[in-house]
Amino acid sequence: MATDHPPASGESLNKRLAEKGLRSTSQRQHVFEVLLSQRDHPSAEEVFMRAKQSKPEISMATVYNSLDALVKCGVVRQVNVDRGATLFCSNMGEHAHFSCDDCGKVFDMNLKGLPQVPMVDVPGEFEVRKIDIALHGRCTGKCSDCGRKEAVA
Ligand SMILES: [Zn+2]
Ligand SMILES: [Zn+2]
Repeated sequence: MATDHPPASGESLNKRLAEKGLRSTSQRQHVFEVLLSQRDHPSAEEVFMRAKQSKPEISMATVYNSLDALVKCGVVRQVNVDRGATLFCSNMGEHAHFSCDDCGKVFDMNLKGLPQVPMVDVPGEFEVRKIDIALHGRCTGKCSDCGRKEAVA
């Protein structure tokens, strides 16, 4: 199902934080806005760099703490690709991640249906709760870095 992004209003973030017993702070609000403004799966360090541009006083520890709170209250999810740094995705709709082996960028891919377990033989004593689809390849044409590599080769 192509569910849409959660509403980006501060009011709904406050509510989500409150539901988890977390305080709504201007820093958390700010980090959330940073994530919503550019949905390209930044790492915590990248979020910090962006957050600092409009809030120079924000610290790395605060950014980590805010990301943690946002993940806990379900408005942001963590994405782990291979051995790379944890990335943050603010698209809470069902989607798969495509990661480019060459440039390391991660892209959202829409699902054509709900994920199922068609290719995996799951023994009866295992109960599947969630399926993560991770696609690996190269983002030809989508990214200028990879497009350039192609031209040089
Ligand atoms: Zn994503
Ligand atoms: Zn690429």
